[in-house]
Formats: sequence, C-alpha cells, structure tokens
Amino acid sequence: MIYITRKEHFSASHRLNNPKIGKKENEAIFGKCNEFHGHNYYLEVTLCGEPEQNSGYVFDLKKLSRIISKEILQKVDHKYLNEVEMFKGINPTTENMAGIFWKILNPKLKTKNARLYSVKIYETEKNIIEYRD
Ligand SMILES: [Zn+2]
Repeated sequence: MIYITRKEHFSASHRLNNPKIGKKENEAIFGKCNEFHGHNYYLEVTLCGEPEQNSGYVFDLKKLSRIISKEILQKVDHKYLNEVEMFKGINPTTENMAGIFWKILNPKLKTKNARLYSVKIYETEKNIIEYRD
C-alpha cells in the first residue's frame, strides 16, 4: 500500500460558539476561542492505494490539488467559517472541519486503485487534528 499526501494552506477566521448553550457556558468551554479570531491552517489530504499501471501514479497530485482547491479552499480561504455554507449550524472546531472536509472529498477521490485515507488539519503548529474513516 502506498500513501500520497497533498498539503495545502488557507487562512480563515471563526469563533467557537455552540448556539444551543448559553453565553456563560460558551465562555467557560471555549475561553478566548469564543471570541472572533483567525488561523493560518495547513490541510493535508492523504490517499492510499496501488500505482495505476499506465501512469505509475496512485492518484495524480495535480488533479488532487485542483479538487482540494475547488471543493475546499475556494470556499474557506479568507472566509469567516461560522458563515460558510458547509458549516451552517455547526460549530467550526477543527474536529468538525476535518469531518466535513472528509465528507466532501471522499466521493471525489475514489478510483479503481485509490481511496481517501485521511484529512489532517494543522490549526496551529501544536494543534493537529486528523479524520480517518
Ligand atoms: Zn480558533
């Protein structure tokens, strides 16, 4: 099995806030993150599979980059995530972002010889969240 990864970057703002609970509780859970702020995110999308016979590629990385750009980056880069369509009604924690990115990308990345393996988001240098099926 071979694993291939495309790394991308985007910047976005958000505030962590659960609309189902009160202001005091949100402040207690999320602290400073309950306030409006931003991150320089890195996104790693990893596929696994076997090299295709003619190309020798598991998946064309240029094509992978185009798919990530169209499906994710164009919708989140320099945006306020709480108001982005894919996060409607969802608190945009990095955990929730990874799960939603997986759901969007997974059907686009299935081929005869490859499939999506993981979506990993670096929210900061020290906070890294990974979604795997
Ligand atoms: Zn944050």
